Amino acid sequence: MIKQFVPQKICLSCQGCCRFAEAKSVWSVRLLKEEKKRLRLAAYDLPLIPASAHQPYVCVFFMPCKNKCLEYATRPFECRLYPFLLNRFGNKVVLAVDTHCPFVQKTIHSKKFSSYAAYLAKLFLTGPYLALLKDNVHIAGCYPDAVNLKELFSLT
Ligand code: SF4
Repeated sequence: MIKQFVPQKICLSCQGCCRFAEAKSVWSVRLLKEEKKRLRLAAYDLPLIPASAHQPYVCVFFMPCKNKCLEYATRPFECRLYPFLLNRFGNKVVLAVDTHCPFVQKTIHSKKFSSYAAYLAKLFLTGPYLALLKDNVHIAGCYPDAVNLKELFSLT
């Protein structure tokens, strides 16, 4: 399992994630093949549902009144990975980070950040994770403003 970068208390007190401005969003969560099967969904995108004027759409597992994920313990790979992302850059899949995340904004120049990014790159460039990512390239998106950190592999 991937080590968590943002401390859980900080992550769960944030009002940023799991909410979306549009029904179809590049930021919506894409599921691994095994997650799609486990959740018995027809599509790879986790469904978004209308919420409120302030938060137009939320993830189907998000409870706005409690600011809580109903599936937190078994949340998808992409949710565990965030604020890190798999970004499509030309024909490459690149480890990237979302600078909209307030914790990233605070830590991006720190040793904690560079150590964690190096840990993730090493994890994803070797063994089971590399095979998993190559088998699930559909989860790599084209994220606006993402900062690319490390090329992982090419799409051939
Ligand atoms: S599965 Fe949970 S953590 Fe992931 S987007 Fe939905 S509510 Fe948020």
